Amino acid sequence: MIPPSFEYLRPNTIKEAVAMLQQHGDAAKILSGGQSLIPMMKLRLARPEYIIDINRIPGLEYIKEDGGYLAIGGLTREADLESSELIRTRFPIIHDTAGFIADPQVRNMATVGGNLAHGDPANDHPATMLALGAQVVATGPVGSRTIAIDDFFVSLFATALKANEILTEIHIPMPPPHSGGAYFKLERKVGDFATVGVAAQVTLDDKGICQKAGIGLTNVGGTPIKARRAGDFLPGKKLDDAAIKQAAQLAADDSEPSSDLRGPADYKKAMVKELTQRALQRAGERAGK
Ligand SMILES: Cc1cc2nc3c(=O)[nH]c(=O)nc-3n(C[C@H](O)[C@H](O)[C@H](O)COP(=O)(O)OP(=O)(O)OC[C@H]3O[C@@H](n4cnc5c(N)ncnc54)[C@H](O)[C@@H]3O)c2cc1C
Repeated sequence: MIPPSFEYLRPNTIKEAVAMLQQHGDAAKILSGGQSLIPMMKLRLARPEYIIDINRIPGLEYIKEDGGYLAIGGLTREADLESSELIRTRFPIIHDTAGFIADPQVRNMATVGGNLAHGDPANDHPATMLALGAQVVATGPVGSRTIAIDDFFVSLFATALKANEILTEIHIPMPPPHSGGAYFKLERKVGDFATVGVAAQVTLDDKGICQKAGIGLTNVGGTPIKARRAGDFLPGKKLDDAAIKQAAQLAADDSEPSSDLRGPADYKKAMVKELTQRALQRAGERAGK
């Protein structure tokens, strides 16, 4: 349980942190909340020679509305998402998601940037960000670039971030009126990683016809999965039980779970269907169906 030795670096600015990444390349890792990195080092699944601790860099922890977008700083803690009035009232799907992660001790440290940058298909935020159509801001030696969340998760534990880039912000479009979302998670015990998780976000018109839908799936494939067929099926349809049932089947068809200690693959597919129905029902209620 003791990690291999490493050199600890503590930059005061993003520029310094990026320069350190440039200098040390693959031998370096960013430390945010440390809630994935430190356990992996203790288990010797990660052996960085340099740890670049970005926790003292000011201005990376915020949740604000900015020009039609919700902007979340990369170092924002799960506990801050949970207690944010803006998140609770306008993005209940994110409030649901943060509340499902681990336990209060972990949530006090773990960051939303780290949750995405880790690229773990079992983490909960990726599915929610896929459902919301988020964008990730990556800052590197030549400035910042924006990556659509659909292009962010490349393969198991791999993202579109380059080795010399830091995830500095997440942008999410502010939902129009009659929008709602929800995250449902099946876990073996409270605080566990998901057996299956489903995030659903919908926008309805004033007659209850779906205008837009996004559905993301947790821990049922090698990457977080966007259930595209389900999301494309719903617009133009009334969000009633029949449409929800069909969309849920399409989401289950898009999942690619494997059998493991959390259950056999066919059970997980059945759970994707069930949780998608529940998430869409709740999302519709929150949208004012
Ligand atoms: C007991 C326990 C239970 C947990 N249960 C859950 C759960 O139910 N659901 C869930 O989603 N998660 C769970 N987690 C994982 C935890 O939520 C994640 O570790 C956390 O969200 C990752 O963020 P972090 O700030 O701790 O990242 P770190 O551990 O600091 O970093 C993780 C990885 O991302 C990289 N990284 C971090 N920040 C950045 C950045 N800004 N830019 C570029 N790269 C970066 C690091 O180099 C490292 O490779 C659990 C963890 C523990 C210890």
